[in-house]
Amino acid sequence: MSTTETPDTNHFKVIVMGSGPAGLTAALYAARANLQPLVLEGSQPGGQLTITTDVENFPGFPDGILGPDLMDRMRSQAKRFGAQVKFEAVSAVDLQTRPLEIRTDEDRYLTDTLIIATGASAKQIGLESEKELMGYGVSACATCDGFFFKDKEIVVVGGGDSALEEAIFLTKFASKVTVIHRRDELRASQIMQDRARANDKIHWLWNKQVVEILGSRQDKIHAVRVKDTESGEESEYPCEGVFVAIGHTPNTELFRDVLDLNEVGYIVVREPTTRTNIEGVFACGDATDPIYRQAISAAGSGCKAAIDAERWLETASG
Ligand code: NAP
Repeated sequence: MSTTETPDTNHFKVIVMGSGPAGLTAALYAARANLQPLVLEGSQPGGQLTITTDVENFPGFPDGILGPDLMDRMRSQAKRFGAQVKFEAVSAVDLQTRPLEIRTDEDRYLTDTLIIATGASAKQIGLESEKELMGYGVSACATCDGFFFKDKEIVVVGGGDSALEEAIFLTKFASKVTVIHRRDELRASQIMQDRARANDKIHWLWNKQVVEILGSRQDKIHAVRVKDTESGEESEYPCEGVFVAIGHTPNTELFRDVLDLNEVGYIVVREPTTRTNIEGVFACGDATDPIYRQAISAAGSGCKAAIDAERWLETASG
């Protein structure tokens, strides 16, 4: 290096994209391996657990822990060992060059390895009225918006664990919560089903698909139009709020033409490792996992990604 050149402070050995359990666990392990990782948190620091309430199934917390608290602890733990965390979202990547190039709206970074932990986002039903009324009575986050529905009658769309978790949580505020499911059998785990069924405030509407949300931004919501999935008959069901909890899609849009993705967009990794089809690029957490999607399995795969990156760097440096 000539005396006029300065080292590129934006060049890292490891960059982690995402700050949920996968990303922060990867950062913790990479930091403890002395790789001084940079975490680019994305638009939702802490990931999906920051919009949930009690996490009762993360080992080590016998009394449960609030999602945001768990994520604060993970972030502090990674920072304690030297991880740098920035509230920036990646807007473009170039994985064909060496070092890899990562751009955010604020900056440009170079990195020898990349760990993708971009997670997944809540799905929408796909209705015009849903889009129009999002934030005006339609929500995808009970923790964020439940408070606004005190003593109101609301509906939750979906039949999985998310829907029942939202429904149970919303009974703290709403006077009546109706779960609308498109089949007559729930997908949710037995323990969640038992809890929801035991809750007097929860009602059920089976074999119904929501086809329109009735209301306006000015007058709020007064009903949903539902279609019977067996008879095709349509009817209106009165409610003042709609919570959509119908699953997730992986946040992998940036990698669509670059990495191997499966048919619904999850990043394909070379199991049992976290390697992708590009050398030096690793992926973990919900962005790779259509099956388990748990905080603990995401954290576990984040640990694997950091170890994979560390070993890859050792081999690459000869
Ligand atoms: P999910 O298990 O995929 O369930 C999605 C639900 O939404 C299904 O009941 C599905 O109906 C319904 N659905 C999908 N698309 C729909 C549409 N366009 N219109 C109407 N309904 C639609 O998703 P999830 O509930 O988000 O759970 C994802 C994972 O996270 C699971 O592994 C779950 O166990 C886990 N999780 C765990 C907890 C917990 O343990 N406390 C909490 C939340 C999530 P069908 O059943 O007919 O397909």
